[in-house]
Amino acid sequence: MGKSVETKDLNIFYGSFLAVEDVNMTIKPKTVTALIGPSGCGKSTFLRSINRMHEVVPGASVEGKVELDGEDLYAPGVDPVGVRRQIGMVFQRPNPFPTMSIYDNVIAGLKLNNKKAPKSELDETVERSLRGSNLWNEVKDRLDKPGSGLSGGQQQRLCIARAIAVQPDVLLMDEPCSALDPISTLAIEDLMNELKHEYTIVIVTHNMQQAARVSDMTGFFNIEGTGKPGKLIEFDDTKTIFSQPKEKETEDYVSGRFG
Ligand code: ADP
Repeated sequence: MGKSVETKDLNIFYGSFLAVEDVNMTIKPKTVTALIGPSGCGKSTFLRSINRMHEVVPGASVEGKVELDGEDLYAPGVDPVGVRRQIGMVFQRPNPFPTMSIYDNVIAGLKLNNKKAPKSELDETVERSLRGSNLWNEVKDRLDKPGSGLSGGQQQRLCIARAIAVQPDVLLMDEPCSALDPISTLAIEDLMNELKHEYTIVIVTHNMQQAARVSDMTGFFNIEGTGKPGKLIEFDDTKTIFSQPKEKETEDYVSGRFG
């Protein structure tokens, strides 16, 4: 668990529109990497290309490489469903299956992977995943109740439990706190700090304070104008990006001069 992700000369398209150009990034295992930049610069597109969610959009494609511990995820014959099992995703709006119980929500991904596990093993997975997402104590007495009965912050932790139940190597998070209140946001941020001991985490956030709080590394993306591709301008230790960035564009952004 906790593998590296490397992109090489990665171009990402929607049809003929080049949305993100030439990204070379090495994401170290068991770290939190934050992706920041103004709206529309391609952060989410880049994130979704890492686990091949991007290509679910009709006409979408990539050029270049994405490697997981050196293994080319876009090589011919690689099953995108398997890639998405190894590289899980948590979305902006918590999206538990509303009528499904908390228990079944956690193991939903296992079922998709077609695993017939004995009940005792499923029980173990549910407890491990809910403990892993810091939700166990709050829900252990109501595992059979629908996931939709939880608060927004709890639902997001349930989605994280669902993502880690399949024991992925990498967790992608697309603005996971933007629909949450400040207390739930802090709970998710604390959780990221714990999860990075086991998983490699990549988070898109529009909140620079959050990036500064939770991440080890930060990538700053920018865009020159509408219709132009987004580019990775600078990628470095989070401290460096926020205190001594090398590029003026980065400095202007992190000091709040635009975006
Ligand atoms: P960010 O996450 O930084 O706000 P996005 O990755 O959402 O940026 O968008 C990058 C560019 O790709 C934008 O120009 C956006 O309009 C375009 N884009 C995003 N999703 C789609 C899509 N499904 N189809 C076509 N273009 C898209």
